[in-house]
Amino acid sequence: MPAPDIRVEFYPFANVNSKIKMRDGRLQVRLSDLLEGAPESVLEAIAHILLAKIYRKEIRPEHSVRFRRYVSSHDMSAKAHLVRQVRGRKRIGSPKGVFYHLEEIFEELNQRFFYGLLGRPRLTWSQVRSRRSLAHYDPAHNTIVVSRVFDHPLVPRCAIEYILYHEMLHLKHPVKLRGSRRCVHGKEFQAEEKLFPHLDQAKAFLKTL
Ligand SMILES: [Zn+2]
Repeated sequence: MPAPDIRVEFYPFANVNSKIKMRDGRLQVRLSDLLEGAPESVLEAIAHILLAKIYRKEIRPEHSVRFRRYVSSHDMSAKAHLVRQVRGRKRIGSPKGVFYHLEEIFEELNQRFFYGLLGRPRLTWSQVRSRRSLAHYDPAHNTIVVSRVFDHPLVPRCAIEYILYHEMLHLKHPVKLRGSRRCVHGKEFQAEEKLFPHLDQAKAFLKTL
């Protein structure tokens, strides 16, 4: 099989993710610009990982170990943190939407479910109406970003509440490390999420998005 054309670009991702896709018989690779200047051996490891992914081959452990070691080295995580902060600062939005005000909903949920004890992070609507990322909590900026798709009169209040409640649970249950694995939605997190009163209704609505 002839090797396909490969095009590699460094791209300003906010983390060390890399993307690979095949387009018109050509491999397009986008590496985070945080990896610019990485040693040859690390870039080679990334190349192996990405190729294994696209050809659905097993990733040899020496490559994943080399990559992870590089990323988790102190320098790298500090750099990622800094870049996120600088990039994030440019994209600060507002908690006030056209139909829903995120701070109001946050405070109400805080009283109802958390005894008012959660410190309020920065809350903002996303710039774009993303359906892929509905909401996320970014610990680097202590910010909850909610997709603007929810700022709409046809969105039931329980759906936006549920989305925010989920992110508030992330504030309450920070990500834990189990060995090298990140435990994002642990047992306690999941148990508490089930306490949300209109869970089924909210989830049913999310499916329609
Ligand atoms: Zn989550």
